[in-house]
Amino acid sequence: MSLETSLQQVYENIRLAAARAGRNVDDIQLIAVTKTMPVYVINEAIASNVTRLGENKVQEICDKYDKVSHPVEWHMIGHLQSNKARDILDKVSLIHSLDRMSLAKELEKRASGLDRKVKVLVQVNVAEEDSKHGLQLSEVIPFLEKMADFPHISINGLMTMAPYVEDPNQARPVFRQLRELRDKVVDRNFSHLTMDVLSMGMTNDYQVAVEEGATMVRIGSAIFGERRYN
Ligand SMILES: *Cc1c(COP(=O)(O)O)cnc(C)c1O
Repeated sequence: MSLETSLQQVYENIRLAAARAGRNVDDIQLIAVTKTMPVYVINEAIASNVTRLGENKVQEICDKYDKVSHPVEWHMIGHLQSNKARDILDKVSLIHSLDRMSLAKELEKRASGLDRKVKVLVQVNVAEEDSKHGLQLSEVIPFLEKMADFPHISINGLMTMAPYVEDPNQARPVFRQLRELRDKVVDRNFSHLTMDVLSMGMTNDYQVAVEEGATMVRIGSAIFGERRYN
């Protein structure tokens, strides 16, 4: 299947899932996850009107950054080591993976040094999987309270990865819990953050995530096929 056809199918599935949930499809943004994909494939996607790229490694963003067509938004969706944060601050539109205080401190320091704000999502390990990063559900509100002291970090919402399951419906409670947490945070009326973004849903489960309120879906293999080695 051509990249163009795969993309159209993904857009169509998003549209159908939004319709099932009575949602406006314009409230859902596609992040095309391009990790391991070579630059020429990424440029093909951009030529097909992809406008947001997701990568999970700092090195890959830096290597590809100058080679892909512009304008395009870069999203850091993977675990971010503190000592590499400064390498991408001027490149990415949104970091989806703020998962610990030490990283917040580093981001605050680096963003303040550049006299700019860095946009982030707080990553939540809803299913408490050992293999995944992210705060536990119960840790999120106390963490967000502390972020009032980080004026150069702009919190835009929450992100999660659901466990891989055969039947994507089994991932539904994970997405629902993240949405409910978002609603709880909104009720708190924090003046130092917004909760506009719910980044959830990947190839296996994005349709369920959209039904449960995702505003960003991060999709790789459904668009690009199997990941390449790099
Ligand atoms: C790789 C990755 C994705 C996309 O995964 P697919 O199953 O290929 O859609 C989404 N989110 C994160 C954080 C990833 O690392």
